[in-house]
Amino acid sequence: MVKKRNVIINKGYAFVPSYEVDHIICYNFESNISKNLDLMIKIKNFRINDFEYIYSILDDLKDKCEYDTEKWRKNSLNMIKIKHNEIEQYSKYFPPCMNFLFKKLKQNHHLKYGGRMQFGLFLKCGVGLSVVESLLFWKESFFPLIDELTFDKSYAYNIRHNYGLEGSRIDYNSFNCYQIQNNYEPRNFDHYHGCPFKHFSHANLIHFLNDYIKEYDENSPKQSSSINNTIPQPVFEMINIVNKKEYNRACSYLYYYIHSNNKENFTFDIEKNKVLDHPDKFFINNINHFYRK
Ligand code: SF4
Repeated sequence: MVKKRNVIINKGYAFVPSYEVDHIICYNFESNISKNLDLMIKIKNFRINDFEYIYSILDDLKDKCEYDTEKWRKNSLNMIKIKHNEIEQYSKYFPPCMNFLFKKLKQNHHLKYGGRMQFGLFLKCGVGLSVVESLLFWKESFFPLIDELTFDKSYAYNIRHNYGLEGSRIDYNSFNCYQIQNNYEPRNFDHYHGCPFKHFSHANLIHFLNDYIKEYDENSPKQSSSINNTIPQPVFEMINIVNKKEYNRACSYLYYYIHSNNKENFTFDIEKNKVLDHPDKFFINNINHFYRK
């Protein structure tokens, strides 16, 4: 980090920006484990099979650390900087949970606390909106229901708080799918946060997925109907997966389906297609795919 000038050096101290701290933690964690593994190999009766097993876990962990930190960050940083007034044009690349929240925000000029947290942190970490752009986005979205003065008084603090600029000054991360599905259940008809695959009724989910697919690719071929001739085949497949309570798999099905070049004969290969577990990944991969085209 010093060599690459990623840190500020002053009087022999290196000042590490908060977004680089996980890099140091992963590095220390890995090197500590390596040292201890070297010690363990010297211990008598330590079976070589055990050792190989531990290494396989470490390899997985390393992949995950690298994916979650370096790869994400690089992807996000390489992405074009999205401005507050461009959110609408990018919303069709959002995962269903965030696409729905955006639609409801646009429709009602408001979101309850759970929705503001889920969507606000996604805008920060997944979309990469700066705090200034975020404040502008929310202020304009709430208008005319909430005027500028009320917004500054009642809502701006929470947005700055999410960016670590107020209160405990924690630089918050966005919620992953597990947290969205399990920690913040929507309890009222006007709570729009949560995961559509888990929290929508079947009828609402079918309607929503139909619209989502159409919106994503207006030129997509007419979807073949399912066996009961009312629900398009891919939606029917997703509902079947949802019935098994495999919500992330249903969402990944949607992701790979919309990117498929052969939608008529699309099949979801669980071995080949990695299951997505974070809304940020869904969006970042989606955008990267779009720009590669
Ligand atoms: Fe969002 Fe995850 Fe649910 Fe997909 S599975 S809609 S990304 S919470």
